[in-house]
Amino acid sequence: MHGFMGKLLVVNLTSGDISTVALNEGYAREFVGGAGLACRYLYDMVDADTDPLGSENPLFFMTGPLTGTRAPSCGRFVVCARSPLTGLWGEANSGGFFGPEMRFASYDGIIIKGKAPEPVYLHIADGKAALRDATYLWGKGTYETQEAIKKEVDDAKTKVACIGLAGENLAKYAAIMSDKGRAAARTGMGTVMGSKNLKAVAVRGNGQVPLAEEKRFKTIVQEMLSIFADDVLTEAFRVTGTAGTLDYLMLLGSTPNRYFTEGEFPEAEALSGSTMAETILTGPSTCYGCPVACGRKVEVKEGRYKLTETKGPEYETVAALGTLLLIDDLPAVAYLSHLCDAYGLDTISTGSTIAFAHYLFECGVIGPAETDSLALQWGDPDTVTDLIGMIARREGFGDTLAEGSRRLGQRYGAEELAAQVNGLEVGMHDLRAFSAMALVYATSPLGGSHNQSDMYWVESGRSLDELGIPMTDRFQVEGKAQTVARHQDWRSFCNALIVCYFSNAPAQSYIDLLVAATGWEVPLDDTLLAGERIWNLKRAFNCRLGLTRADDRLPQLLLQPLSEGGTQGHVPDLELMLREYYEVRDWDPVTGKPSREKLLSLGLGEMAKDLWGAGQ
Ligand code: SF4
Repeated sequence: MHGFMGKLLVVNLTSGDISTVALNEGYAREFVGGAGLACRYLYDMVDADTDPLGSENPLFFMTGPLTGTRAPSCGRFVVCARSPLTGLWGEANSGGFFGPEMRFASYDGIIIKGKAPEPVYLHIADGKAALRDATYLWGKGTYETQEAIKKEVDDAKTKVACIGLAGENLAKYAAIMSDKGRAAARTGMGTVMGSKNLKAVAVRGNGQVPLAEEKRFKTIVQEMLSIFADDVLTEAFRVTGTAGTLDYLMLLGSTPNRYFTEGEFPEAEALSGSTMAETILTGPSTCYGCPVACGRKVEVKEGRYKLTETKGPEYETVAALGTLLLIDDLPAVAYLSHLCDAYGLDTISTGSTIAFAHYLFECGVIGPAETDSLALQWGDPDTVTDLIGMIARREGFGDTLAEGSRRLGQRYGAEELAAQVNGLEVGMHDLRAFSAMALVYATSPLGGSHNQSDMYWVESGRSLDELGIPMTDRFQVEGKAQTVARHQDWRSFCNALIVCYFSNAPAQSYIDLLVAATGWEVPLDDTLLAGERIWNLKRAFNCRLGLTRADDRLPQLLLQPLSEGGTQGHVPDLELMLREYYEVRDWDPVTGKPSREKLLSLGLGEMAKDLWGAGQ
C-alpha cells in the first residue's frame, strides 16, 4: 500500500492493551486520510449516547498520505473525537514535527480508547509502544512536559504531543501542544485527552513513507519549491508571519474589535506582523518540510511581559488576545499567547470567552459578584493574565469561563450575544466583512470554525481559478452558496491530505503528489468529490448526534450592523444564502439531513440508512 504505512496503533488505556490493526484500504481510497479517514472510523464508534468526556469517546491522532514525505507544507496531523465543547464532530489540526514522526514510527494513526486509572503517557520508539507513568508530569506545563519526557527517554529527538493544566482540569477548549508552541487547538481535543488521564504521546521512529513513484514525486517537489521561492505571499508570510495580514484585514473590517462590536481600532497597528518584525521578532520558525516558515520566534527583553525566546503569536491569536479585548501592547499579547500555550488552551476560544465576559461586564449583565471582584476593563492585559490562569485551573470565575462562551451566555440569559456557533467560538474573521463566512460558520461541522473553509481569503483576492472558485463581491449574497460549497469540498480534501492552508502552491501540484505517492488515479474532479463525500459524512455524523436545520444559524450579535469601519452597515442575508446552500448541497430544508439520494450517490449507504431508515 503506497503512500501509507498501512497500520494504526490501538491503545486501550483502561486495560492497558496495545495492538495494531491494518489500515482499511477501502476507507483510505474514499476518505483519503486525516480528518476524512478519522471521521469514517469514528462514525462507527460514536453515537448520541457517547459522553465526550467518557471513556467510550475514542481519540484519534491521524496523519495524511503526504505526512512525513517531502511534500511542502504537509507535515501535519489531526486529532479527532466527539467534542466536549460542542457535543458535535471535533477536529483540530496542527503543524510541527509530531505528525511525520508518527509515520516514521510506522503508523498512519493512533486510536486512544478507554481511560487510564492513573495519569500515563504513551511512548513509541524502536518499533515498540508502551504506557508509562505520568503522575510526576501531572500539573506541569506543556513546555516543561515535553522537556521532562525527552529527558526520561533520553532522546532529544523524540516528538511529544501533550496537554497542560487546562486539559488536566477539563477546561472545555483545551489544546494539545507539541514542539515549540504548535497547537491542535480547536474543539477541546486536549480536554478529551485529559479525561482519559493521558498526559502525552511521545514518538520516535526511523521509517520512511513508501512512495509509488519516488522519482516523479521528487521532481514534483522540486518544481513546487521553485514556485514557493518566487511567490510573494510566501515571502510575506516568512517576513511578517500570518499577523502580517492584520492591517489589510482590519481595513476590510474582517478583524473583530471590542468583542465584535466596533469596526475600527487604529491602535491595532502596534500588533501587526510588521511591527512584530521590527520589535520582538528573533526569527521565523517552520513546520516539517515547509518552505513558508510563517511561525514566529519572539523575545521580550524587559518590562512587565518579559519573555525568553518563545513562539510568537499568529494572526488569530493577535486578534483574539489583542483587538478583541482592545489590547494594543504587543509584548503583552505575546505573553498572553505564551501563557495559553503553556497551559494548553485554544487562544481563539480563550480570548473570545474572556472578551465576552468583558462585554457582559460592560453591559451590566455580570458584575464583581460574578467575577471574583475582578473589574473587567477593555485594554487591560493584567486582568486577562489572571483570567487565563483561573480558566486553566478552573478556579473561581475561571471555572465558568472554562465552559466556553455559549455556556457563559446561557448562564446569564445572553446566549444571543455570544460570538459562537454551536458552541465553538468563531474565528477572527468577521462574517460582516465577507458574506461567504456567514455560510461557512453556520454550516461548518465544527461550529464557528474558519478551518473548514477559509473563504475570507478567496473574497479578499486569493481566487482558486483552477478549482472553479472565483473571487466575487465580498458583500454579495445571491449565488454565493455554490462557491462556498465548492470551497468547503476542496478544504475537506485538504484536511484529509493534510495540507496547510497557508501554502500558495497550485492545487494540481498536490494532486500530482498524491498520485505519485499512492499510485492512484486522481483526476481533479475526484478530489472535489472526495471532499464532498467527507463533508456529507461529517454532516451525517452530526445529524446522528442531534444536529438539525435549526442549528445552522448565527447569534444576533454577529448580525448587528456596525456603524464604522470596513463593513459599515453591511450584514449578510443568511437565510437567503442558506436556502440556496441547501439546494446546492441537496440537503433536506426541514431536517437539515443530506438527502438519501445525495448520500447514496457519494457511496454513503450506511449513513443513508442511519438517517433515513432502510425503506424507500
Ligand atoms: S505555512 Fe506555516 S503553519 Fe503552515 S506548515 Fe508552513 S510553517 Fe507550518
